[in-house]
Amino acid sequence: MGGCSGGGTTVEAWKVHKFGGSSVADAACMERVARIVEDDAAPRKAVVLSACRGVTDALLTLVSLAEQQDPSLDDRIRELRDRHVGIARELLPGNLFDEFVEQLDRDCRDVAGILQTVRLVRAASTTMRDLISGYGEIWSTRIFEGLLRSRGKSGGHVQWLDARQVLLVEWGPLGPGVRWEQSRNQLRQEVPADFAGTVVVTGFIATDTQGLQTTLGRNGSDFSASIFGALLDATEIVIWTDVDGVLSADPRLVPEAQVIAALSYNEAMELAYFGAKVIHPQTMAPAVHKRIPIWIKNTFAPQAAGTVIHDRTAPTPLVKGITTVERIALVNLEGAGMIGVPGTAHRLFGALREEGISVILISQGSSEHSICFAVPEAESERAERVVRRAFDPELREGQIQSIDVNRSCSILAVVGDGMAGAHGVAAKVFGALGSAGVSVRAIAQGASERNISVVIDGRNSARALRAVHSGFYLSAHTVSIGLIGPGLVGGALLDQLASQVERLRRDFKVDLRVRGIAGSKTMRLSPGAIDLSRWRDAYAAGGDPVDLERFADHVHADHFPHAVIIDCSASAAVAGRYAHWLSEGIHVVTPNKKGNSAALGDYERIKEARRATGAHYLYEATVGAGLPVIQTLRDLRETGDEIRRIEGIFSGTLAYLFNTWDGRQPFSSIVRQAKSLGYTEPDPRDDLSGMDVARKLIILAREMGLELELADVRVESLVPGALADCGVQDFLQRLDEFDAPMLERLESARGRDHVLRYVGSVGANGRAEVGVVELPASHPFANIALTDNIVRFQTARYDQNPLIVQGPGAGPAVTAAGVFADLLRVCAYLGARL
Ligand code: ADP
Ligand code: ASP
Ligand code: MG
Repeated sequence: MGGCSGGGTTVEAWKVHKFGGSSVADAACMERVARIVEDDAAPRKAVVLSACRGVTDALLTLVSLAEQQDPSLDDRIRELRDRHVGIARELLPGNLFDEFVEQLDRDCRDVAGILQTVRLVRAASTTMRDLISGYGEIWSTRIFEGLLRSRGKSGGHVQWLDARQVLLVEWGPLGPGVRWEQSRNQLRQEVPADFAGTVVVTGFIATDTQGLQTTLGRNGSDFSASIFGALLDATEIVIWTDVDGVLSADPRLVPEAQVIAALSYNEAMELAYFGAKVIHPQTMAPAVHKRIPIWIKNTFAPQAAGTVIHDRTAPTPLVKGITTVERIALVNLEGAGMIGVPGTAHRLFGALREEGISVILISQGSSEHSICFAVPEAESERAERVVRRAFDPELREGQIQSIDVNRSCSILAVVGDGMAGAHGVAAKVFGALGSAGVSVRAIAQGASERNISVVIDGRNSARALRAVHSGFYLSAHTVSIGLIGPGLVGGALLDQLASQVERLRRDFKVDLRVRGIAGSKTMRLSPGAIDLSRWRDAYAAGGDPVDLERFADHVHADHFPHAVIIDCSASAAVAGRYAHWLSEGIHVVTPNKKGNSAALGDYERIKEARRATGAHYLYEATVGAGLPVIQTLRDLRETGDEIRRIEGIFSGTLAYLFNTWDGRQPFSSIVRQAKSLGYTEPDPRDDLSGMDVARKLIILAREMGLELELADVRVESLVPGALADCGVQDFLQRLDEFDAPMLERLESARGRDHVLRYVGSVGANGRAEVGVVELPASHPFANIALTDNIVRFQTARYDQNPLIVQGPGAGPAVTAAGVFADLLRVCAYLGARL
């Protein structure tokens, strides 16, 4: 602790502590605060207190009730009195308690008297409102002073100081301005120069130049603390609250927000001005002047390091914090008549200033064709009137064409000294907003480059905040996920996610939260992430009847920046909704073939919705399960290669049948064997019909740019016509009636040293076929293992020696892995660094 010499004796320096409403909410809180104050060994301490939590609000409500002549007024005064009596009873010994209650009752009678006047005239003046709202600080400090005194552990004297006796302020357009000289003189009279001990000071309240009680504005106790810090030449100001410091975003909106270790005064001012409620924006000014560091610390975790606000800047991280201001209106003035006319802005803002309307943000197009500004929504009607009046002649003569007011907007501000001169910060802000589907209505960047502010639709506020916050790696990229179809593939995917989510969060800052699972009958929705280690129990525990619109709305909740629906069903009805979901900005990832093989018009609608919103639609696992087939095709096309022909074995089941069948057993018994091994669909005809292969071929054909319908594919079905409609058992039993022609085909092929394979192929000319073909025994398709898939791309670059992708192309685990990879690709597109 520093000291300074004065008149031969060394006078110790002051330290200021300020405790907010939540820190003094009740008796237990007050005791905690007393311990913090006592633990600080500084010999001279000023302790500035707010009213107990909620008391200022309650007092202001009394004023409104009186204006409305509400009969409950007296009860509400009594409630407030009783709350304070209750706290005092727990903390103060008999004599101090009686003294407190006596003063409290006197105050309550005064309050009732003032409110009686308000009730009669049905309107309260500002002075009356200020007078009433200031009682909370008087009561909290009196209790606390009594507590400190009675505990006797704080060292030195304990003195109560009514800030109204000291602080003289004058309200101007920029808020309350301190009359420093007079305040300093008055403080000297109240607190002796050689005082040693603790002064307990009322926050929030002051006296104006007419001698009337005033306040420093809502949340003004922070400002009181720094004013006293400056008046007392304190070495340190500590603002104690209910969070660990200034966080990188409002923790109620971004639970992952992190404590910022250090901020410059300017950064803290910007954050506070743009909505970081943890500190009042004017708090910094008095401290700047005297270079007093301000600490923000947690009353409920005093050991936590907290945030220091001082005169140094730390250039990293570039972005320290991101804030939002809600309930903003954006006023836009447009007109060719403003071009080149000097003083338009001056007239505009002059008119607003005269009406006392505070403008939060201004943005002017460089063409001077338009000016827009943001004001609090509550002032928007008045602002519009003022502007219309000020520009009445121009409006009548058409030099100004329009004045629009957009209500329900929010401002999002990105703050950091390090942003100045750094490249790509703005791009990142807009990139993050764009990928979260948030459009920007106005932009402002101060010349200091310490702040980029954007005006957005208020409904997008939380989503935008989270997206930008994670865009700067201040928190993980949070993705809200809904999974449809928790069957074999969907279930395997949820298990894979269960084992990886922690690692992804830790290593890559990707926070995947599965918040909904829907089956064909029921769905389970969860506000937070479903515990994936026990997703089966959660899902089985029941839920609501399935309603896919509600499901999508839930997954796409406003406060999540990104939403992904993973469709692991095989349902055409689910696929029918992709276009709608994509158009709402929900990303879709799926192994379901029904969307991309639907009628061309429906397919086009999906692609169109994706293009229109920029939402991602990924479906790698529709062909070849986890094999990189679609991605390879896309890479080939995007790099300008020309696709001439794609052919391959696209069905694990049919691959198995023809790989295994050597003619020694009948073909039908191989089919039965495959079914018993689980290699076929429950009804093997779904595989043998060739439709599944045809769908995959259509998906590839369309990916090549061909406009083909499923009906354009020539399909050779291996289901005999006579067995198309019977039951599954019947089918399996009677299949041997058709073994002879199959065997004949095999033997004839063998005679030429060929094999049979079930192949799909499509050429650039649009010819698409699926069926059994004879291939030389040396052909790559003749030499694959078990259920492998193989795809051969013949292109301009890979012409004589085509590109081949081969590997396991079926099974829940590999298919799920393909879907998982798509999901992570979406995260990477959204800005995650994987
Ligand atoms: P006090 O009663 O101590 O003055 P306030 O309620 O005025 O406390 O301010 C603290 C609250 O501010 C926190 O509980 C938190 O919810 C909110 N807050 C908003 N933005 C931020 C931020 N960027 N950092 C920390 N807290 C914030
Ligand atoms: N009690 C006042 C308010 O609620 C001042 C403060 O808490 O800082 O606005
Ligand atoms: Mg506060």
